[in-house]
Amino acid sequence: MKYKTDISEGKVLCHLCELLHDDKEHECSQCGEKLHQRLPDSLAQTWGYLLAATLFLIPANLLPMMVVTAMGTEDASTIMEGVVYFFHHAEYGLGGVIFIASVAVPVFKLGVIYYLLLVVQFKQHDKAMGGLKLFHIIHVIGKWSMLDIFVVAMMVSMVQFQGLATIETGGAAIAFCAAVIFTIIASEKFDPRLMFDNEVIKEEEVK
Ligand SMILES: [Zn+2]
Repeated sequence: MKYKTDISEGKVLCHLCELLHDDKEHECSQCGEKLHQRLPDSLAQTWGYLLAATLFLIPANLLPMMVVTAMGTEDASTIMEGVVYFFHHAEYGLGGVIFIASVAVPVFKLGVIYYLLLVVQFKQHDKAMGGLKLFHIIHVIGKWSMLDIFVVAMMVSMVQFQGLATIETGGAAIAFCAAVIFTIIASEKFDPRLMFDNEVIKEEEVK
């Protein structure tokens, strides 16, 4: 499989306004942005933010997400305990939203970015097109990453409004926010064009 890229064609694309230039130019003639054929240090930065996100997911799942105080007793629950609690009380909608937003989506996003990095590192060119589709999917669902924090905030205000109990967010909320933010940065730092690149170098070697 051979791909034509900006590098193989002697071009460079502006990251900001997407105007195509000759690769001898250093600044965009339209918007003045510095021109790079690939995001600088894309792989190292993506690995770094991805590992940070993975590490933060551990306390996010082990520490309590919610601390409920009702009638003098305090009850702390982790994300998964919260999901189990809602399913147990037949709140399938709420349990489902929390499971998808705080377990399924973050794990899927991390998995995809690890996969994309491995596609680049092991030069799996036949997987580049599939990788590009996955990259677009995680960018689309990225907008919904903070849904879980929103759900927790909504429940806290609802329950406190009714005066039934006090609910506070636990340490997991901060760790979870950090994991979400590091995942977003990791996906921003990853340059999907890297997946197509080594094939071009091979082509040039053949010539
Ligand atoms: Zn530009």
